[in-house]
Amino acid sequence: MRLEALPAALAQVVGERGLVTDETDLHPYCHDWRHMFKGHPLCAVLPRNTREVAEVVRLCVAAGVAVVPHGGNTGLSGGATPDGSGRQVVLSVARMNAIRDIDVMGETIEVEAGCILQTAQEAVDDKGLLLPITLAAEGSACIGGIVATNAGGTNVLRYGMARSRILGLEVVTADGQVINGLRRLRKDNAGYDWKQWFIGSEGTLGIVTAAVLQLAPKPRYRVTALLAVRSPADALQVLCAARLAIGETLTGFELMSGAALERVTRHQHLKVPLGDAAWYVLLEASSSLPGLRDATESFLGEVLEKEIATDGVVAESARQEADLWALRESITEAEGREGRSVKHDVSVPISSIPDFLKTADEAVMRAFPEARINTFGHAGDGNLHYNVIVPAALDALALNRLVHDVVVSFGGSISAEHGIGQYRVDELVRCRAPVELAMARRIKAALDPQNTLNPGKVFALR
Ligand SMILES: Cc1cc2nc3c(=O)[nH]c(=O)nc-3n(C[C@H](O)[C@H](O)[C@H](O)COP(=O)(O)OP(=O)(O)OC[C@H]3O[C@@H](n4cnc5c(N)ncnc54)[C@H](O)[C@@H]3O)c2cc1C
Repeated sequence: MRLEALPAALAQVVGERGLVTDETDLHPYCHDWRHMFKGHPLCAVLPRNTREVAEVVRLCVAAGVAVVPHGGNTGLSGGATPDGSGRQVVLSVARMNAIRDIDVMGETIEVEAGCILQTAQEAVDDKGLLLPITLAAEGSACIGGIVATNAGGTNVLRYGMARSRILGLEVVTADGQVINGLRRLRKDNAGYDWKQWFIGSEGTLGIVTAAVLQLAPKPRYRVTALLAVRSPADALQVLCAARLAIGETLTGFELMSGAALERVTRHQHLKVPLGDAAWYVLLEASSSLPGLRDATESFLGEVLEKEIATDGVVAESARQEADLWALRESITEAEGREGRSVKHDVSVPISSIPDFLKTADEAVMRAFPEARINTFGHAGDGNLHYNVIVPAALDALALNRLVHDVVVSFGGSISAEHGIGQYRVDELVRCRAPVELAMARRIKAALDPQNTLNPGKVFALR
């Protein structure tokens, strides 16, 4: 099929309302959330069901045109943005947003890929169930995007990454076939667990059209506290004490530097309800059993008495809980007010966090004395957002490489949760072993021999 004939053929499949070719209407599909990447597709298509997705893919294969899957466009690595060639088709799952089934007894939900995460969370809430994937973009991010990026968030230490909640997937392959793997099984060792290939593959191996997700009982009690500590090492002592005292109830454990919260108070006009400190910990615990508050307060009393933490406050109401979380969630915006920042979404073994921060801070300040480091993150699972505020002219690539080299030297990952997209393609090649890259390329070649799905993302075929 000729390229010029493709839009009309696609309209036959998805209907006129499912085809976008107008320049103004195409705009949302031309850039990523942070406006770091720009592209221009031939058109965007919005299929209504899995059969239409498969037909779209088959038509694109016949025309030799690449397909860029697109969810809520909240990804932070440019994975859903097409290139500038005008020859790629953006496939948005926005019209496939049904909740197909909620199985209360089995604690599962089956949802289509375009369903917004928050909609799915709300659908199970009044059934005493919890969809435990929580991130600040949950009002826009779609289930397909969550699966494709293996999203994390603030409660990974209790519930794991998205991968650990995914029981079954329905996927359209790169040659336009439908694999129905919407099984609701917790145990299934019948051969390869193929769904794992698609989770976190950022749209490069298949198009997720629906998923079965494992729910959890909704906790009835929650306690949120903010603690002041002297150092990341002391923060980890608090984590150890929390594990011993309130163990499996620990849901969130966020580390924030004093400098990061100082920026929040200055730019966002929020108040930190504790005195100035070098570091802060935001801790959340939740449980279905009463007694959580007493247990948490008694453990907090102990860490204050032993001077592991220097100060602390426990939220007394839902409003106060929200105020404490607002401090954490405003850090990125406050950072943006300070000018340009170079972001690193990294993970290291939890026990290495203090040494990693010391080594990275020293290396960055030695090489870039004008930099200001803005550290925060999900320390309870080893994920740090190691962002550096820099002058406009600073060589961001040199800074990336320096930080990533330190990360690798601690056995860490250069992308804890945001993925590779088109942002970190070169860094992945630099930081992963050739044997790992070669294996990944063989999987890509096997599942997508014509390089139809999201070419140039995750790794370039070269
Ligand atoms: C304010 C904010 C906070 C965030 N916080 C977190 C966080 O705490 N943890 C975290 O992990 N992420 C976070 N993110 C990143 C982002 O929300 C997640 O990556 C999310 O999973 C992306 O979902 P989406 O639907 O927006 O996907 P998109 O941005 O549309 O796409 C992301 C990638 O998935 C692919 N894709 C999308 N849909 C499909 C599909 N149906 N089939 C196959 N591939 C598909 C795209 O091609 C692209 O490569 C945050 C983002 C923002 C803006």
